[in-house]
Amino acid sequence: MTIQDLLGTFDVQKQGNAMHALMTRLYPICRSITGDGIRETLAELRNQIPFAVEEVPSGTQVFDWTVPKEWNIRDAYIRNAQGEKVVDFKKHTLHVLNYSAPVRAKMSLAELQPHLYSLPEQPEVIPYRTSYYTERWGFCLPHRLREQLPEGEYEVVVDSTLEEGALTYGELFLRGEEEDEVLISTHACHPSLCNDNLSGLVLSTMLAKFLSGVRRRYSYRFLFIPGAIGSITWLARNEATAFRVKHGLVVACVGDSGPMTYKKSRRGNAEIDRAVLHVLEASGTPYRVKDFSPYGYDERQYSSPGFNLAVGSLTRTPHGEFPEYHTSADNLEFVRPEFLGDSLLRYLEVVRLLEGNRKYVNTNPKGEPQLGKRGLYSSLGGNVHAKQLEMAFLWILNLSDGNHSLLDIAERSGVSFSECESAAALLAQHGLLVPSRRAI
Ligand code: ZN
Repeated sequence: MTIQDLLGTFDVQKQGNAMHALMTRLYPICRSITGDGIRETLAELRNQIPFAVEEVPSGTQVFDWTVPKEWNIRDAYIRNAQGEKVVDFKKHTLHVLNYSAPVRAKMSLAELQPHLYSLPEQPEVIPYRTSYYTERWGFCLPHRLREQLPEGEYEVVVDSTLEEGALTYGELFLRGEEEDEVLISTHACHPSLCNDNLSGLVLSTMLAKFLSGVRRRYSYRFLFIPGAIGSITWLARNEATAFRVKHGLVVACVGDSGPMTYKKSRRGNAEIDRAVLHVLEASGTPYRVKDFSPYGYDERQYSSPGFNLAVGSLTRTPHGEFPEYHTSADNLEFVRPEFLGDSLLRYLEVVRLLEGNRKYVNTNPKGEPQLGKRGLYSSLGGNVHAKQLEMAFLWILNLSDGNHSLLDIAERSGVSFSECESAAALLAQHGLLVPSRRAI
């Protein structure tokens, strides 16, 4: 099966529904940058497609960072003087400050206040807060609830552990005909939050599942890692071979209703940048493009100057630009199946373009070859794309001197990549083109 066959039968709504169903199973798990939450998440994803799970011991030095202690949590709550749980981790994973140190204490409201996090400007939602590298305890709650807490004695319990353990990540490698790799990376460390980041996890998983079943030119590497420390850890452990990554995308925020947004790689004009822009333009729907900045998700680690890998990030509405971001409102209703399915389709189209983007050499470069006597004009038939296909033939024959890729030709001619790809295949069938050995 080829990726073209796959795209021919792709059903956006059906795939989106499957992605949303998987997301629904992952939603209740309390993930963090280490611990059983991420293990349980990877186990669920491995039901879809098997991959390796790596464990890196706490204390391991990874470039300028150290793998932290492992965090696990069983329960957390605040009980009022009447014995009622007014904040309960078992009702929502966001209620506890992620990576909260353990605590068991009784205290006044005034003593409790510095440990509470809420959003006065969004009083109905629970904010998402973390404290990975400073040891403290805390709770997150709707501001409206916080304002209603009466004076009195409160019992606070965070039944968590911060101990020597490991950092866990998932890595799936799909070997292709070439050693060159396409990297698909997504963070896996957020608790019950859907667009950021469960959407990235389910899209990557489904993309991997599809690609495992098609013929591949490139090798594909999928990483399911805790944000920042995970990509730094992976780079530190794979420093000698990371250069094989020729194209990469960081996946996140792919389930909201906003237009697709592409953040370019640090290089700015890498093949991945051009491939994504071509796909978004050809989609006929609105999209946004942002230049690289050393902020955001793991692209900033892959793009650090010691690696400078060509890794961009393809999202819908970027992090921080939707009000639901990092709050309990980023939930299963906010992310919709049709947008998940549409995003997966764009990723597949980008992969299809990368796979098909080759350089060819015209075997008859002296004057135009006579297309008519080879039946190539008749292959145009009366179809509505006949003129476009003829133009594609002429452009490809003219520019196929071994120096221009199909994407170069598509960009210069204004003929779509898919049209160029079909035209090149016909020309190759008739012996007028042969693949060039030159790198793209
Ligand atoms: Zn986030």
